[in-house]
Amino acid sequence: MNTVGGEAERQPQTCRQGTVLHLDMDAYFASIEQACNPSLRGKPVVVCGETSAEQGWGRTIVTTASYEARRFGIKTGCTVPEARRRCPDVAIVCGDPEKYLDTSRRLHRILLRYTDRVEVYSIDECFMDLAGTRRDPVTAAAEIKKAVRTELGLTCSIGVGPNKLIAKLAGDLQKPDGLVTMSRAEALVLFEDLPVQEVWGWVSVPPNGWRGWGFSPLRNWGEHR
Ligand SMILES: [Mg+2]
Repeated sequence: MNTVGGEAERQPQTCRQGTVLHLDMDAYFASIEQACNPSLRGKPVVVCGETSAEQGWGRTIVTTASYEARRFGIKTGCTVPEARRRCPDVAIVCGDPEKYLDTSRRLHRILLRYTDRVEVYSIDECFMDLAGTRRDPVTAAAEIKKAVRTELGLTCSIGVGPNKLIAKLAGDLQKPDGLVTMSRAEALVLFEDLPVQEVWGWVSVPPNGWRGWGFSPLRNWGEHR
């Protein structure tokens, strides 16, 4: 695991459940803009490129849509004109990468209170491993969510599991503001019918490609690997 520093002391393992946490911030860029600007709260907001307004919106891509905007079918990757067609009142905000990076650094400082085993996966996603910290992972996850809310004014979703794959799978099940734990046995049941393209790390594989190889869905994987 890559770590970002910290002083957490290693202690004997006491947790019987999974100790890996996956944290994903909810609608990150849009939520930061809403936290910074009260007039945007509760409203459909999209964040896009910094210079987009000067160049015209034609092919400008939405980098993050608030949950209010998502209710209109606006998603990351759609164009600003498409977003406006779906929701004429949508607020368009040019992104501020420095602000988002600064918020990520503040998030990391919260996580490092719990362990130095923090892996930064993207600007708004981290893995942590609480093994050996004597902390109950679910209690820690709830505390982290509370700290993120009170200190950053943001919500996040956390999955807890025995490894990164399962923790991420669990976290993706309930968004926004979720906290889901998943055991290895529960993950195996879920894997039975999960399309392979929905499994983290396999997303770039064309669905038909796997079918051509004869092991989609995952229930057949074990027979063919
Ligand atoms: Mg996110």
